[in-house]
Amino acid sequence: MARPKILVVGAGFAGVGCVRRLERQLAPDEADLCLVTPFSYQLYLPLLPQVASGVLTPQSIAVSLRRSRRFRTRINPGGAIGVDPKAKVCVVRRTTGEIVYETYDRIVLAPGSITRTFDIPGLVDNARGMKTLAEAAYVRDHVIAQLDLADASQDEAERLSRLQFVVVGGGYAGTETAACLQRLTMNAVKRYPRLDPALIKWHLIDIAPKLMPELGDKLGRSAQKVLSDRGIEISLGVSIAKAGPEEVTFTDGRVVPTRTLIWTAGVVASPLMNTLGAETVRGRLAVAPDMSVPGLDGVFAVGDAAAVPDLAKDEDGAVCPPTAQHAMRQGRKVADNVLASLRGRPLESYKHKDLGLVVDLGGRDAVSKPLGIELRGMPAQAVARGYHWSALRTNVAKTRVLTNWLLNAVAGDDFVRTGFLARTPATLRDFEHSDAYLTPEEVREHSATLLARQD
Ligand SMILES: Cc1cc2nc3c(=O)[nH]c(=O)nc-3n(C[C@H](O)[C@H](O)[C@H](O)COP(=O)(O)OP(=O)(O)OC[C@H]3O[C@@H](n4cnc5c(N)ncnc54)[C@H](O)[C@@H]3O)c2cc1C
Repeated sequence: MARPKILVVGAGFAGVGCVRRLERQLAPDEADLCLVTPFSYQLYLPLLPQVASGVLTPQSIAVSLRRSRRFRTRINPGGAIGVDPKAKVCVVRRTTGEIVYETYDRIVLAPGSITRTFDIPGLVDNARGMKTLAEAAYVRDHVIAQLDLADASQDEAERLSRLQFVVVGGGYAGTETAACLQRLTMNAVKRYPRLDPALIKWHLIDIAPKLMPELGDKLGRSAQKVLSDRGIEISLGVSIAKAGPEEVTFTDGRVVPTRTLIWTAGVVASPLMNTLGAETVRGRLAVAPDMSVPGLDGVFAVGDAAAVPDLAKDEDGAVCPPTAQHAMRQGRKVADNVLASLRGRPLESYKHKDLGLVVDLGGRDAVSKPLGIELRGMPAQAVARGYHWSALRTNVAKTRVLTNWLLNAVAGDDFVRTGFLARTPATLRDFEHSDAYLTPEEVREHSATLLARQD
């Protein structure tokens, strides 16, 4: 009899957690294991703002998928663009553009999320996200380029617009991004004697009335004070009405001349989840507490892309928030459930109580709330860095990150602009491939083609 095939889609916190557990638990001939992923690394997303600000090199948070003694998974280098759960076929667009098919007995969907956008004129063409390694590297280059160009310009208005920066999104991703990049510009400007540091202005805006409400009122206010004291202008209850290449209009009517709009106003599940024709909860695939998809044989979903019931909360209908903390634990638990389903054993529910939040605001500034304890400054920074460091999966990645942190603390940054693809228009769509997916009907046409080929 042919061995059953387990297909995992996405090599993030959840997907890699699942694959590594399966590699450890599966008997050598028990099942074939395949991972569909466009990249050969697992990205440690919470440290992206530190890549954008140059504290870490991009390689240090790109953790190799092939560095494992038990490595036995076949990797299909591409992105899944549709899943037909009836035919048990996943349509994959390879990195070369070629379309290939992966059949499966069990599929674990873990493609994460993409930046959530709204129907705001000019937004998708003029905003940059903070969700991929390429985006972080691009934003860093772009910000340093603004200093270079402002320094070279004789035009007062152009200088002013190049030295204003807007970050939208007061969650931890946006707050850390604004904090770390502001620090980058304030340190970098010391190397531009003709630029007046007072002209550099960072705006952090959010439609919500508070920054990072998960922190609670007191700690949230502390974070806000740290940022305001550093000169970041925080506007709450405000969003973007219009975005252009040289100015941004806020919903309160202010027009800010700027060439830099960073959009981190939340995430939405990968569009892959819409291709199954199954129930979704605000875009995330609806799953049972054991992470199986009701009514679809052999389909499981985890991480940011799935609405996993949060059994640790007493509220009816609560789902786990989209965090790395949940994604990596769900990945391990779903591996156990996939194995249980192959071995005819009962599946178990996922339950995890949130451990808290860490927010790195750059340098010695941070706020953290581990296990409900409120920390600020150096103790908070030590907890934040200690947490991220211990969560990196390989010792090589840990060493790279630690070395980078030490080097940056001792020698600072050189503010080098690499210039890769600097003349190519780069939109949210280009970085996150949000328009690559098929409709459920197109997926069925593809699986029918495959089945006809096999007859
Ligand atoms: C800037 C930033 C800071 C953050 N800070 C924190 C933090 O401090 N603490 C915390 O808990 N969480 C944090 N998060 C959230 C956390 O990173 C996510 O919740 C977590 O990464 C979700 O894990 P995942 O496995 O579901 O998805 P991801 O880790 O995003 O992995 C998804 C993987 O799937 C791949 N993929 C995407 N589409 C496809 C496809 N169609 N086919 C195949 N593969 C695909 C992607 O390339 C990626 O490798 C942060 C996020 C950001 C952006």
